[in-house]
Amino acid sequence: MIGILGGTFDPIHHGHLRTALEVAEHFGIADMRLIPGKVPPHRPQPVANAEQRLAMLQLAVANEASLHADERELHREGYSYSVDTLASFRAEVGDECPILFTLGVDAFLAFQTWHRWEAILQLTHLVVVHRPGYSLPPAGWYTNRLGTNPDDLCSTPAGRIYSLAVTALDISSTRLRATLQQGKNPRYLLPDSVLDYIQSHQLYCEI
Ligand code: ATP
Ligand code: MG
Repeated sequence: MIGILGGTFDPIHHGHLRTALEVAEHFGIADMRLIPGKVPPHRPQPVANAEQRLAMLQLAVANEASLHADERELHREGYSYSVDTLASFRAEVGDECPILFTLGVDAFLAFQTWHRWEAILQLTHLVVVHRPGYSLPPAGWYTNRLGTNPDDLCSTPAGRIYSLAVTALDISSTRLRATLQQGKNPRYLLPDSVLDYIQSHQLYCEI
């Protein structure tokens, strides 16, 4: 079984890290991949470059054995489509291995706008994690795919959707960038190692 959390990570923060760890523990995933996008579709382009976002991610997961930074999207040209990333994982792990793609409710609400979203559901399960300020409507296009038993996801390779209430941390990269740009101190919202990197590279001084 493999778990994935994709994102822009501009910068990575404790909302991402706690989510990744709680998903890994909930499903017994030994290998949780955090994957920074190079050219994210559907949003403004990142402020920090890909190398810097990867470096911050690597610092953030350095002391946690179950979390790994995965560089594959940084080596592809063009938009970083999740469907391509998931196809590359599927080719690696084979047809039977469950893949659990994690995304916050905010991202899930736009899921049907994602490139080849139906193909994504043939490649992976979705774990939709709670995020302050957003809620999942009780019914929708996804209702017949929703599962409440984690074993359903562990016993099939793809196609189910599971909602997980992770610890609610109202932290966003957008707000962190604004905090830094205003010269305020964002400590305790992200790892110290990441904050040290931001300060030594003078990132997010201007937006
Ligand atoms: P930005 O404000 O730049 O969009 P962000 O904080 O939303 O940054 P992303 O890199 O866009 O971070 O998010 C990557 C993934 O992590 C998305 O699926 C998002 O929903 C999820 N996520 C981000 N922050 C949290 C949080 N505090 N709690 C739960 N999930 C989160
Ligand atoms: Mg976001």
